Amino acid sequence: MHVGHWFGNVLNMVRLQDEHEAFYFIADWHMLTTHYDRTAELPGFVRELVLDLLAAGIDPNRATLYRQSDVPEVAELTLLLGMITPLGWLERVPTYKERLRDLSERESASYGLLGYPLLQTVDIVIVKGELVPVGEDQVPHLELAREIVRRFNRLYGEVLVEPQALLSPSPLVPGSDGRKMSKSFDNAIWVRDDEEAIRARVRSFITDPKKIRRGDPGRPEICPIFALHRLFSEDILAWTEENCRSGALGCVECKGNLADRIVEYFRPFRERRAELEANPGIADEVLAAGRARVRPIVEDTMKAVRDAMRFA
Ligand code: SF4
Repeated sequence: MHVGHWFGNVLNMVRLQDEHEAFYFIADWHMLTTHYDRTAELPGFVRELVLDLLAAGIDPNRATLYRQSDVPEVAELTLLLGMITPLGWLERVPTYKERLRDLSERESASYGLLGYPLLQTVDIVIVKGELVPVGEDQVPHLELAREIVRRFNRLYGEVLVEPQALLSPSPLVPGSDGRKMSKSFDNAIWVRDDEEAIRARVRSFITDPKKIRRGDPGRPEICPIFALHRLFSEDILAWTEENCRSGALGCVECKGNLADRIVEYFRPFRERRAELEANPGIADEVLAAGRARVRPIVEDTMKAVRDAMRFA
């Protein structure tokens, strides 16, 4: 979990568990779209993510937290909906085109990568999801999900719930190279990083290329460090902007100020996570409870789907 996930997803998840009946899942099958050759790492990764979410404030008594692969019906429904999903609908999804551009080897673009939004559709409809928290960039995925649901319901009857977007704050979080923070770009600050790692990563960030030394006027609006100050440094935001523009503030000092605040911001998270680490069985317990809670809903959805398609 990196800082981009934290501000784009996790804070919304923590808030929404108090406002709705929330279902969250660990998307371990989705991870195969990029990690299909590293499945040995998956169990550890799933466990770490569960601990991250618990430490961030997800309460398994209020929200249902389960693992995608614990619900094999997800694969069955993906196959069934895949039969009624035109290829063109998947090919036009903007994130698919972006991923194709970013992949270093074209042959890495798999059937699974193209089908990623279809799998997402199933993740939503199999638990009868009504509202889906999305940032602006994910709206096309949800539109696709709605189109697939409408098509299914037209063909087989009103069976699936058509989900609605719940537009949620999703600030743009840049990484060290100025691109969107992402594991695949190796430009992220990880919420679990210790103080030294956070400071080293912040030092590696690009800044305004025209600001070479203290005294040169800077342009905070194009600087990734300032974008992060907006998230972490309310106390010195106006001061930073003013002194960057005037040139009085140097980038080294500015990065140090930011690193101080990131370290402090995540200190309670790191402490809660260290406590959770002391209980090695907790991740499995939470996932088992989530699986039991989600099972009757999934079985109900699949019975209705199989009946409607005459597979009963
Ligand atoms: S002073 Fe800060 S905001 Fe201005 S360019 Fe340097 S790092 Fe960016």
